Amino acid sequence: MSTQIANAVVTHEESMFEAVLARLDVAAKLMNLSDDVAHVLRNPSKQVKVSLPVMMDNGKIQVFEGYRVVHSTHLGPSKGGIRYAMDVNSDEVMALAAWMSFKCAVANLPYGGAKGGIKCDPRSMSVGELERLTRAYTKAMKDIFGVNKDIPAPDMGTSGREMAWIVDEFNKITGEDSPGVITGKPIAIGGSLGRDAATGRGVMVNTLAALKKMGLNPNAVTAAVQGFGNVGSHAARLLNEKGIKIIAISDHTGAFYNTNGIDIKAALEYTAKNNRTLKGFTGGTEITNAELLTCQCDVLVPAALQNVITEENAPKIQAKLIVEGANGPTTPEADPILNDKKIICVPDILANAGGVTVSYFEWVQNKAGYYWTEEEVNTKHDLKMEIAFEAVWNNANQFKTGMRIAAYITALQKIEQGVKLKGSY
Ligand code: NAD
Repeated sequence: MSTQIANAVVTHEESMFEAVLARLDVAAKLMNLSDDVAHVLRNPSKQVKVSLPVMMDNGKIQVFEGYRVVHSTHLGPSKGGIRYAMDVNSDEVMALAAWMSFKCAVANLPYGGAKGGIKCDPRSMSVGELERLTRAYTKAMKDIFGVNKDIPAPDMGTSGREMAWIVDEFNKITGEDSPGVITGKPIAIGGSLGRDAATGRGVMVNTLAALKKMGLNPNAVTAAVQGFGNVGSHAARLLNEKGIKIIAISDHTGAFYNTNGIDIKAALEYTAKNNRTLKGFTGGTEITNAELLTCQCDVLVPAALQNVITEENAPKIQAKLIVEGANGPTTPEADPILNDKKIICVPDILANAGGVTVSYFEWVQNKAGYYWTEEEVNTKHDLKMEIAFEAVWNNANQFKTGMRIAAYITALQKIEQGVKLKGSY
């Protein structure tokens, strides 16, 4: 398929990794990245696939597929979450690993990028089955993970609970107490204050920075947020605290619209009592998730799934600003349509980098054995996000391109130095 992105024609197939490469190629051409460096980055440095036999509660053994892809280590040890979902596959893990390389570089963190995943349906498994699966995965990855080597974290379908099992299993194998081998841990065992809300917080900081550049007052702005999980719920709450009226929210059970503004506190209380879903919420008129994306609002925050903004619905999007809480919510085909409509899009590798930024702070605190207050974490986080936003904004102006390609350029400028300075080829 042929796509026009920021004045350059690229081709790509329907694959997440191809979508990453399509953007990389456009950025590489604009910034004149050396072909050698582009070649290195087009190929993940390590790909591991394992089979994980697990004793299920019914006494039968089920074998799960597990993946870990290290995309790059040119700026430091690789960093990236572990996803539990039925659609996990090597293409998706490669794409997410590459995004982590670019995200860490944009946020100026001393990390390369990685990602892992297990093809499973965590919602249909018991806690015991999940623990056995997680420990089997950790054993299989014992030579990949390491506090100065490859540092996992939670992603979709995993949380602090799985991170606790991983750090415990890893430490049993190595015989050392090394909390920094994984981030996103519960606070009691070395997690960082502020980590839980960090990705939503990064969305908020990026939104405010973009609104300022656009000359818009947050108190006169409306927003629609797709997804009400970790990223979406914290983003909606924090945006609302900054004066933005949230007129639509949603999750996988439905979407709700209220021109007077959704009461986010009430929505949070509702989901806390309702199995973490919005099903049956009465604080707005029920609409579809598709309608939420094209509703009349100033800011759109996709914070649920990938590939939801496409060439089909992009022409109908009314928001002036999109801030990507989710990874990969916009397809490469939709990018030029948004650009033509002069919609500013703060891309995932910048907008949702708050999570990995506070993961980095967790790792630093673990290494130092000294823990910061939540205020210290938030202040350091906000500063890092503001600096990253400014660097990408400046590159967008300098290279006369949209923020997505500008974010790739910002990342590639750093990674290129790492590849060239460290390289012995
Ligand atoms: P989560 O599982 O906590 O929440 C996902 C939300 O999306 C839930 O509210 C779910 O109901 C909703 N959802 C699922 N299917 C939907 C659908 N078809 N329509 C509308 N809503 C739907 O996950 P999360 O951690 O919030 O992650 C969301 C996205 O953000 C993912 O793309 C993830 O990779 C990305 N991300 C997360 C973090 C983090 O720190 N959690 C960091 C960076 C990026």
